[in-house]
Amino acid sequence: MPGARPDPLAQPLKSALGTRAANLLATLDLTTVGDLLRHYPRRYIQPGELTDLSALREDENVTLQATVVSVDSRRMRNRRGSLTNVVISDGVSTGHVTFFNQPWLDKQLRPGMAAIFSGKVGRYRGKLQLASPMWFNIADDEKEPDLASDPLAAGEATAPIAVYPAGEKIKSMQIRKQILGLLRRLRPAELVDPIPGGLIESRDLPGLYEAFEAVHRPMTIEQTRSGLARFKFEEALALQTQLLRRRHRAADLPAVRRPGKDSGGLLAAFDAQLPFELTGSQRTAGDEIAADLAGGHPMNRLLHGEVGSGKTVVAVRAMLQIVDSGGQAALLAPTEVLAAQHFRSISQLLGDLGAGTLMAGLESDEARTRVGLLTGSQQTAERRRMLLDIISGDIGIVVGTHALIQDAVKFHDLGLVVVDEQHRFGVKQRDALRDKTTAGVRPHTLVMTATPIPRTIAMTVFGDLDTSTLTELPNGEKKIDTYLVSLNEHAHWWDRIWERVREEVDTGRQVYVVAPRIGDEDTVDPAAEPAASVSETVALLRGRPELEGTTIEMLHGRMSAETKNRLMTDFAAGRIDVLVSTTVIEVGVDVANAKAMVILDAERFGVAALHQLRGRVGRGKDPGLCFLVTSSEPGTPGYSRLTHVAATLDGFELSKLDVESRREGDVLGNAQSGGKSGLKLLRVLKDERLIADARRAADALVADDPELDNHPALNAFIGDVLGHEDEEYLERG
Ligand code: ADP
Ligand code: MG
Repeated sequence: MPGARPDPLAQPLKSALGTRAANLLATLDLTTVGDLLRHYPRRYIQPGELTDLSALREDENVTLQATVVSVDSRRMRNRRGSLTNVVISDGVSTGHVTFFNQPWLDKQLRPGMAAIFSGKVGRYRGKLQLASPMWFNIADDEKEPDLASDPLAAGEATAPIAVYPAGEKIKSMQIRKQILGLLRRLRPAELVDPIPGGLIESRDLPGLYEAFEAVHRPMTIEQTRSGLARFKFEEALALQTQLLRRRHRAADLPAVRRPGKDSGGLLAAFDAQLPFELTGSQRTAGDEIAADLAGGHPMNRLLHGEVGSGKTVVAVRAMLQIVDSGGQAALLAPTEVLAAQHFRSISQLLGDLGAGTLMAGLESDEARTRVGLLTGSQQTAERRRMLLDIISGDIGIVVGTHALIQDAVKFHDLGLVVVDEQHRFGVKQRDALRDKTTAGVRPHTLVMTATPIPRTIAMTVFGDLDTSTLTELPNGEKKIDTYLVSLNEHAHWWDRIWERVREEVDTGRQVYVVAPRIGDEDTVDPAAEPAASVSETVALLRGRPELEGTTIEMLHGRMSAETKNRLMTDFAAGRIDVLVSTTVIEVGVDVANAKAMVILDAERFGVAALHQLRGRVGRGKDPGLCFLVTSSEPGTPGYSRLTHVAATLDGFELSKLDVESRREGDVLGNAQSGGKSGLKLLRVLKDERLIADARRAADALVADDPELDNHPALNAFIGDVLGHEDEEYLERG
């Protein structure tokens, strides 16, 4: 902003603190005054936590307050260098502190001085001592008594002491000293608060300077809480404002209106021939999507619903509306197996409607379209023909994997991209798909996921999307009996599993067996106990007397797509009794007759994967059966994860568990990429209410002033934390 005064927080640390200190702080990636002041304490030492000298124990990290009794530096006899011995006292007991090669301490630590020492307790010649601890003089700040100073300077150690994330080169106490120095010199009036004043007031949050003081130089622990709450809100506001602005910008772009046909279209014909009634939420979601597609801006919608809630039908109806409007639709699946399955089930759902040629202007009841499958394993000639039919517009609905559609495929007129099972978190991948523009105009996008997402994650990771949710399961509540099979405690259950599998097969049912690895890996960690493999398991099962006469086959990701397809077709047709596979069957595979699943070394899988996997056997009327087999010790994290998964079928419950076990950065994924500092305080799960509050505030802000012209400080802060997106947007638009 021309004419604006420079932001004191943007000042480089080099000019604020000098080169030496700046270089040390740079090792922590702190380069500006703002970086350092937003380097929040990791925790606080409260006065009650100060250790008494009489209570030192070897190997403990302690912080204590004491008075220096004597200081004595001398050269060491057997080694080069010097040793400084300091005797300290807390009024009751005395203790020993030693420093190596810091002879100047003679002048800094003087008898009678009150100081805080922080370090690890060691033993030297039989005596407990602190070796080279961090320390600071409590009275240091008294030299500038006119300014608000270190509360500890008052000599009363009732104030909490900030402990900072530190590094090899620079320790918490030094960081603290630099921050206090900066705070003393900062003029509160020069700071511009990124949080708009109205929001500060209505929430009773401390202003920027006040909050810096509260977190770095608190008098009470309550103060630190209110200071940190303010900075958390600041982060939540930045994140939500960014997401909503992104949504606002996307919604502002032009898109082709695809209203479908009032009568005589494919969609109407499809609805008329559906063998079932749509559920209420399929209808609602369908209406929301239909309205979006008819609008002049690109749809960005998440369709969210448990496994079996019937997302595919909703997607097919949306695709038909596009075809009815003269456009094409693409459905992207995460794996080839799933793409092939979608192709089959969509072709089946469409019946005759999908067996024709898309011809503009084709009348009413003769309406037809063609569905095409595009896979990496197709013959070149076949693939080339398919690509031609897509670019000519002869194919109305294309099913393929992400990779395929992202690359070479050109459409005649792509109107809608549907992404199935987008259960990987991340904003960037989605963006790549949206960029398949026709003549510079973006298609509509529908992202489908079965992974239950806690509300705050939905607000955050998918915060730039509108959401439709399928709340009912058309075939009734899913029933899966899940058993934890602990081989450690009950070795003989191993045999029982295969007897049980045999019983299933004998009643005409099919069974999945899932193993963590394929088995021919070159790189198996020799140190780790190898997990069960698909190839070994197949050999093992074929040799088990219980399974004699059953058909056992294997399926894994390294097979050719053709083989995978054949196997899935055989399994779906009931020609295979037991299918041993990796997690390739995790998402979307739908074989109603498969009622049981055995997951080997189940502790190797994450919660979400386990839940998705067992969803394969929860279809239809009879309850599914799932064995989580493990050799892990009770009490280990892996084992306790399994007990949770066995205990509930509630995906939302499990999703929280799953998110808790991830690192925050993984959850946010690219939502925070690009930013230098990132989000430091916000915890997506724990701060649900705060995030919801910030979202409401951001909503109002963006509705009013989408480019934040009236809030330059917030705009700048968003750039610092999350990265600037503007240029990227200009390029794309
Ligand atoms: P999802 O992809 O959400 O896991 P699908 O779309 O594969 O679920 O649907 C699961 C099964 O339910 C499919 O066989 C589908 O044909 C069927 N189905 C979908 N909607 C309905 C409905 N309203 N009534 C009965 N069956 C339905
Ligand atoms: Mg599905």
